[in-house]
Amino acid sequence: MTAQLIDGLALAQKTRAQVAQRAAAFEQKAGRKAGLTVILVGENPASQVYVRNKVKACEAAGLKSELIVLPAETSQAALLTKIDQLNADTSVDGILVQLPLPPQIDSHRVIEAIAADKDVDGFHVANAGALMTGAPQFRPCTPYGVMKMLESIETPIRGAHAVIVGASNIVGKPMAMLLLAAGATITLCNSKTRDLPAMTRQADILVAAVGRPKLITASMVKPGAVVIDVGINRLDDGKLAGDVDFESVKPVAGAITPVPGGVGPMTIAMLLVNTMESAERRLV
Ligand code: NAP
Repeated sequence: MTAQLIDGLALAQKTRAQVAQRAAAFEQKAGRKAGLTVILVGENPASQVYVRNKVKACEAAGLKSELIVLPAETSQAALLTKIDQLNADTSVDGILVQLPLPPQIDSHRVIEAIAADKDVDGFHVANAGALMTGAPQFRPCTPYGVMKMLESIETPIRGAHAVIVGASNIVGKPMAMLLLAAGATITLCNSKTRDLPAMTRQADILVAAVGRPKLITASMVKPGAVVIDVGINRLDDGKLAGDVDFESVKPVAGAITPVPGGVGPMTIAMLLVNTMESAERRLV
């Protein structure tokens, strides 16, 4: 048996085409384009690539996208002033501050300064709380994309055991909340988990979001499980690898996402979806 490949690129393309239709309808109704503003502070090379991809994807779908690049030595006060201006700007539907931020800036303060109804990343405490209490406004893009990937192959979620490895605020925790809301039983693992393989082997749905190349090996996967690899790791030879040892796990799993071409493209697609949702909400 070999796992079904969940093609994130194809699903992202389809999602972006749907956003493009919504964006055109919005523009006709509102007399303006839906707008996302991305702020990058400093010159982190990976962040530069991420923000460029986000801006390009917006433009390709017919959204207005502004990229604000600030020098690495920008003060926290200056960044907060910029965010205030964007909060008040009615042509801006979504604000995204690319993380990580330079050390003089407290990212928590910055995220909390973004108006919750423009926080298309879904990281603001109001949005995290809304998700936790079952009335989500913006679902964080990566786990939201994973849910769409599971839907795309009609994965049974209700009653399934979902094991999530990694418990960050941006991936693991919101992933757990979304799967729980969909009726799964959740195990959320972190670096202190005592016997990780014993946990992962119970998973009908296994989500790896750790940042350790090839941490999940074949012996850690229940035959037939759906394996979602969120990890993006740059290896010494320059190649990208996920948190799952793809080649060894593929013959065991029922379905699997590749890296690259899996969760990554869906994250960007869901950012566009969130921006559209924000714009449409603003219109009514
Ligand atoms: P993070 O903030 O560093 O969190 C990593 C989590 O993994 C923590 O909860 C940590 O536990 C846990 N962990 C570390 N080592 C572990 C181990 N040996 N066993 C079990 N758990 C362990 O990372 P993140 O921001 O969530 O990102 C995770 C990965 O996803 C990275 O590779 C990142 O590049 C990637 N990512 C991809 C996308 C995408 O679009 N595909 C988006 C975001 C992130 P503790 O809580 O105990 O420290």
